[in-house]
Amino acid sequence: MTEIRLEGIRKRFGRTVAVDGIDLVVPAGNLFFLLGPSGCGKTTLLRMIAGFIRPDEGRILFDGREVTRTAAEKRDCGMVFQSYALWPHLSVFENVAFGLKVRRLERSAIERKVQRALQGVRMEAYAERKPTELSGGQQQRVALARAMVIEPKVLLLDEPLSNLDAKLRLEMRSEIRSICNESGLTAVYVTHDQEEALSMADGMVVLRDGKAMQQGPPRDLYRRPANRFVADFLGESNFLDAETIAVDGATATLRTPAGEIRSSAFDSAEPPRAGVTLSIRPEALKIDAAGGGNRLEGTLRSTMYLGKVAQHLVALDGDAGEMKVFQPDPEHLPAVGDRVRLSVDPDSVVVLPG
Ligand code: ATP
Repeated sequence: MTEIRLEGIRKRFGRTVAVDGIDLVVPAGNLFFLLGPSGCGKTTLLRMIAGFIRPDEGRILFDGREVTRTAAEKRDCGMVFQSYALWPHLSVFENVAFGLKVRRLERSAIERKVQRALQGVRMEAYAERKPTELSGGQQQRVALARAMVIEPKVLLLDEPLSNLDAKLRLEMRSEIRSICNESGLTAVYVTHDQEEALSMADGMVVLRDGKAMQQGPPRDLYRRPANRFVADFLGESNFLDAETIAVDGATATLRTPAGEIRSSAFDSAEPPRAGVTLSIRPEALKIDAAGGGNRLEGTLRSTMYLGKVAQHLVALDGDAGEMKVFQPDPEHLPAVGDRVRLSVDPDSVVVLPG
């Protein structure tokens, strides 16, 4: 298993700074995601790990050994691309065998390894077919087998599921997850799909304009985003401007246009001061719930029933703006124009820099 370490990585293309000083550690054996909107530098970063692009500044280390200037073919990385990049004139078997032939393995060893790689992605029955005779999902499985067959130390995946339909994407998510678990290799996966990242990652970094906005396990980033960009990019959130009134241990009391709100979701080493922004997830707001927590009141503006969830927009009293609210398993729906009482637990009110 290989730990990947990036130190102060920078890359410019002309005037564009594609990657702007990234420090990152991908622990050995992790499935790690580079996540961010189009143009944030994900692919450039992945290609630098692969060795296809050389950084202008910084160092790349595999298990403490510097590989910044090591040629791509000497880095022991398997790559999977969005476009599959299979050779159309070769059979599935030959596509997967290619990397082993280049490495001049014996015929019997090649057959054994290709067989095993195809079994790993459940494609052994298709060995004689040409890529054009396969579905998109099957082609991507072959591409995965081709990357895995050389037994790489590191697997790099660049938007591998974006060409697949929604159902196949879900299937392939769990397949890639289990292949990574079983092989124990370190994988770096590029996507702009936050749900894909949240559902598969051991760890992730959210990038913006070539910079790291936050890194950590998916649950930490979702529940405790460090800034408005991460809160907004990972799922949906409501934002409220607030002034700090008091901090008492682990609880802060804040003044907002919607009334006083208490929060316990902040770094106790850096308690909120003065002006901040509060982030509240739509699913953290409960309609007409009894019990403790913060209370907000308003009028239902609109509602959309989606079966397993209803999405409401509530105009808060005091011209405090609108709140998006997700109501799971909705049995009784409020009607547009109804008065609505919302509650939210202090632990779900995240304090962000103002
Ligand atoms: P996407 O999700 O759209 O693929 P990305 O996050 O992978 O985007 P990159 O492809 O890494 O982003 O590009 C980062 C920035 O660098 C972009 O502004 C892009 O236009 C620029 N860029 C990337 N490659 C080159 C290149 N070879 N020449 C010039 N500019 C480039």
